[in-house]
Amino acid sequence: MQPYALVIDGQPVTTDRTFEVLNPADGSVVATCPEGTVALLDQAVAAARRALPGWASRPDADRVAALNDIANRLERHAGELAELVTREQGKPQSGPGAKLEAGGCVAWTRVTAGLALAEETIQDDAKGRIVIRRKPVGVVGSITPWNWPLMIATWHLMPAVRVGCTVVIKPSPYTPLSTLRLVELMNQVLPPGVVNVVTGDAEVGSRMVSHPDIDKIVFTGSIKTGKSVMEGAADTLKRLTLELGGNDAGIILPGTNVDPLLESLFWGCFINGGQTCAALKRLYVHESQYEEVAEKFAAFVAKMPVGNGLDAKNLVGPLTNAMQRDKVSTYVDEARAKGARILTGGVRPSGPGYFYPLTVVADATDDMLLVKEEQFGPAIPILKYRTVEEALTRANSLDVGLGGSVWGNDPQEAAALATRLECGTAWVNQHGGLHPLAPFGGVKCSGIGVEFNVDGLKEYTTIQVVNVAR
Ligand code: NAD
Repeated sequence: MQPYALVIDGQPVTTDRTFEVLNPADGSVVATCPEGTVALLDQAVAAARRALPGWASRPDADRVAALNDIANRLERHAGELAELVTREQGKPQSGPGAKLEAGGCVAWTRVTAGLALAEETIQDDAKGRIVIRRKPVGVVGSITPWNWPLMIATWHLMPAVRVGCTVVIKPSPYTPLSTLRLVELMNQVLPPGVVNVVTGDAEVGSRMVSHPDIDKIVFTGSIKTGKSVMEGAADTLKRLTLELGGNDAGIILPGTNVDPLLESLFWGCFINGGQTCAALKRLYVHESQYEEVAEKFAAFVAKMPVGNGLDAKNLVGPLTNAMQRDKVSTYVDEARAKGARILTGGVRPSGPGYFYPLTVVADATDDMLLVKEEQFGPAIPILKYRTVEEALTRANSLDVGLGGSVWGNDPQEAAALATRLECGTAWVNQHGGLHPLAPFGGVKCSGIGVEFNVDGLKEYTTIQVVNVAR
């Protein structure tokens, strides 16, 4: 078992207190992990603060070179990182799983290295010269969830480092190991203190949020915690990027030939066992083809292999923790009690690991928890609609808006409806596809700000206008 350490000021730090990280597929101990404290957080923030002037004033080309070097290292270690993600989080090696996550980290790091924030001259004449510059926001506190631990850490760290910020990252206590390893690899390239990692849960997280020496928080996690982050950050008026939960709707237009779409629909709903912020979480199907679509989809879903993600034949793994499995199981039970039909799955297995079967729930109604709340697991409710306008109204009726999708034979017709969804990303005949140059973020309670591309970089900067009189 590899020893894991926090990284503060470029140095590995171990602690007397440790906690066990469990493999959700069988409950075995993946590793013991050093437990961070508020005192260690303070040390990490002080290190990031010390490193800031040097890193921020480096020539841009140095930071580009550093990120490219990091991308190459991540690529060389992709297999090891992917295996660690499967062991601590559960997503399989096969399919759009842990290997995709590790490969995505390489791709996002390279693309971020290639982005530039040029100065903009808006006036240059006899009266004067006005230039808009971007300066690094300062010390960034990054707080990440457990569902795509390595990818989300990469999404937070790389743009921050690219523009000259320094960072303290706090991973979820369920999945800290891949982040500890990522930061260790980054520290082989970066000066001490540029990227630090401290583990911990709410106590360390809330201290980050109110910390007087942290200038910005980038937080990915639940809406509930996101709201408390916003509250806690108010006193120091920190800049915030909040990537929060969603409850994405998908609408299948009347008369759609679903056969060629089944696989895309499947991954839209069940990627990472549904533990994905922008997974399809409510599926609306027209009454004219409701039974046909529900049955075909359930038959497709029932054939997909679920099991330990280290076994190459499995395409979906366990839930990452008991809390999440309990939630999904409770929501499905409530739907069943309210009259929903479980077409496949729906019975919690006995045996080791936090497994829950892939579950398709027909006759779901708007009052069910499985529809109203974010299930964040492998259970998809199918809702019946009469008119497309009604489906759109119901899709838009919740206070969240991360993604949404419309499925149909005519992509243009589907796209026209998709633009009327209240969400940050509207997909057509697919759900959940991301691109490192396509800004990603939510509307309503799904978040504030975006990640990726130049818009994402800007979130780690402040504007400074230089106005020179002539
Ligand atoms: P969570 O909110 O419980 O925890 C997220 C992080 O916040 C963890 O590191 C946790 O330790 C920390 N934390 C807990 N209490 C805190 C506090 N009071 N102050 C500061 N930090 C605190 O979320 P989770 O269960 O780990 O993740 C699942 C949620 O994340 C889902 O709702 C999902 O939709 C959302 N998510 C959103 C995106 C996105 O990009 N929009 C991506 C992935 C996940």
